[in-house]
Amino acid sequence: MSKAIHILQLYPDDMNIYGDHGNVLVLKRRLEWHGYTPIVTEYNVGDAFPKTVDIVIGGGGQDSGQEKIHKDLLKIAPKLRTLAEDGVPMLVVCGLYQLFGKFFQTSKSHRLEGIGILDIETYGSNERLIGNTIATTEEFGDIIGYENHSGQTSLGDSAIPLATVLKGAGNNASNGHEGARHKNVIGTYLHGSVLPKNPLLADFLIETAVVKRYGSFTPHVIDDSFAEKARGVAAQRPR
Ligand code: GLN
Repeated sequence: MSKAIHILQLYPDDMNIYGDHGNVLVLKRRLEWHGYTPIVTEYNVGDAFPKTVDIVIGGGGQDSGQEKIHKDLLKIAPKLRTLAEDGVPMLVVCGLYQLFGKFFQTSKSHRLEGIGILDIETYGSNERLIGNTIATTEEFGDIIGYENHSGQTSLGDSAIPLATVLKGAGNNASNGHEGARHKNVIGTYLHGSVLPKNPLLADFLIETAVVKRYGSFTPHVIDDSFAEKARGVAAQRPR
């Protein structure tokens, strides 16, 4: 068997909308193409936390899904914090992005404490931010995805925005930035799923994980022509 990379998928039963599971499928397939063996652990409420974790992936969910997993997330927070500080790459989308921050306060004023890996705060609002989104970064080029959230997120002093919005809203209706980053933890509002159309982001997670586990990474050349076509089509879509 080729070298293993362990992916931890957080709460797929409750936090997994607008195709977010596709992010795991992309990582699995690209890891294989790069010559590694992906091993996926699905972690749901009450499960045993795996011993080996190289990449963490988490998706979005309704407010009700966030309420459901919230207590359990606080329970595993110390483990996730240790991994984050240790440089483990993570991608958390929308609902889990919000809960990786300081708190998410629902539009009914119910505050869900977050795990504080990202210095962000989110308030549910009566305005939903919905539609196709393009946000640009230096490291990953333009990130193309789809957002649908009522939460408006603001970044604290120590949070670095992931991207600048070219089309859409991103973190909130006014600031013009999308997502947040701390070390190798990336939070974003972008579904779609996001990784199939953004192979540079997928390979960042893979390369970071492989270098951390095995010391070096030699990428295989992957034919990304379908991803490029998908990017082209998605970028032309109206908001
Ligand atoms: N419930 C959150 C919101 O609407 C998250 C939504 C999502 O994950 N798409 O802000």
